[in-house]
Formats: sequence, structure tokens, C-alpha cells
Amino acid sequence: MKKLSLTFLVLMAVTACKTNPFTGKSTLNFYDNSQVFPMAFSQYDQFLEENKVVTGTSDAQMIARVGQRIASAAERWLDANGYPGYLKDYQWEYNLVDNETVNAWCMPGGKIVFYTGILPITQNETGVAVVMGHEVAHALADHGAQRMSAGTLQQIGAVAGNVAIKDDETRGLFNQAYGVGSQIGVMLPFSRKHETEADRIGLQIMAIAGYNPDEAAELWKRMKAAGGQAPPEFLSTHPSNDTRISNLTAWAPAAKQEARKFGVTSFK
Ligand SMILES: [Zn+2]
Repeated sequence: MKKLSLTFLVLMAVTACKTNPFTGKSTLNFYDNSQVFPMAFSQYDQFLEENKVVTGTSDAQMIARVGQRIASAAERWLDANGYPGYLKDYQWEYNLVDNETVNAWCMPGGKIVFYTGILPITQNETGVAVVMGHEVAHALADHGAQRMSAGTLQQIGAVAGNVAIKDDETRGLFNQAYGVGSQIGVMLPFSRKHETEADRIGLQIMAIAGYNPDEAAELWKRMKAAGGQAPPEFLSTHPSNDTRISNLTAWAPAAKQEARKFGVTSFK
């Protein structure tokens, strides 16, 4: 019995593997966009209803402008690399919310929130592009769905043989992954591997969007400096350490090189 369920788990894990276009690596993912996106869209709408969305200010316009440029850069990259239509189910939205919490997040399907509290650290449009690129990269690489899948495997493992993943279990895993029910956007930390992937992908996208990737390391230095006694929310899920900063510095020239393939030769 135990052996059988183990075989099943291995089989299921193998068939649930998807290739991440950005890393070329095979990853464990049980979930389709069609299962995850509707949950993200309704939670996002609810969040906007319950919070104060900033509209019409130059900051709000900047968030939307950076978001559009980052989304368009991601689309160009995917088209050029043999993944046309990868973003067809995305419904991009970029909102600034009046809240002093230092945080920003992107839910599956391109639903983005920046809190006004992060703006003193991003400082300018390029700083916003660093955070936007990173958060969008988590969504593009399906990191949330992978985290849900790891949870699924644990659940199935726990009940050994109870193979069907029920809808409410899927919802529970989604809520857990995205902090729904406690404080939305306060998510479980991504793994260090996912953080590193999001840094690398984000850097590439921001450069294709025309933003200077050299500024990524500077943003994370400012984020690190904002730590101390009471680290901002963003730092609880995104530790800013010297490895992260030196990685970003080392990868910036390759990101610029990639951007040149798309005709981008100057960066702001
Ligand atoms: Zn991250």
C-alpha cells in the first residue's frame, strides 16, 4: 500500500513538471493558469475594494507606466524565445495603494500592488522598475503555483492514497501561499532559489524595458539599510544580503547585452 502510493506520487510529480521558459529548468507544478488565475483575480478585486487605491497622482501614473513597460518587455522576450501566447491569460493591472507598509507584490496573472510605503526606498522610476521586474518575475515563473504544488504533495503524502485534489484544498493552498485570510500580500517567503531566479529574470526584463539594471544593486542596498530594529515587511520575505547585491552587480552587464538584442541601447 505504502509502496503503491509512493509510486503514484513519483508518477504524479513527473507528469506535473513544466519547463520554465526563463530558466529552461523543469519545475513541479500541478496547477494550470485556469485554476489559479480566477482565485487571484477575485482576491485582487476584493483587496482593492477594501483598501485605498491612489489614482490620478504622478506616483500612481508612474506605477502604471513602469508596469506597462515591464509587461511589454516580458512579452517581447517570450515572443522572441519561442513562447508566443504565454501571457494570453494574463490580465495586467498595476495599482498604488495608500499604506505605509513597505511592500509590493504581484499575484498570478499579473495583478500588481505597490504600497506608498515602499516609494521612499524605490526613490525613482528606475527603483520602481527593479521591484516591479522582480515581483513580475515571480508571477511569470509560476513560483506561487510551485509553492502550492509543494503543499499539495505534502497533503497527498499525508493522506497517502487520497489522490483527488479537491477544489477547497486548492483554495486553501492558494490562500496560504498568498497570505489571504491573514493579511493579503504578506506571503510566506519564497525560497532562496526562487528569489535568485526572480532577481535574474527581473533584471533582464527591466533592461529590455529600458531601465538601467545597474540600479538593481543600489535598490537592494537601500532596502538593506532600511532594515535594523524593525525590518520592513518586504524584507521579511526578501532578505537583502551581500550575496544578492553582488549577484545583481555581476549580472547587470549580461542584462544590458540581452536588451541590445531588442534594440535597447540606452538605459534610464
Ligand atoms: Zn521575491
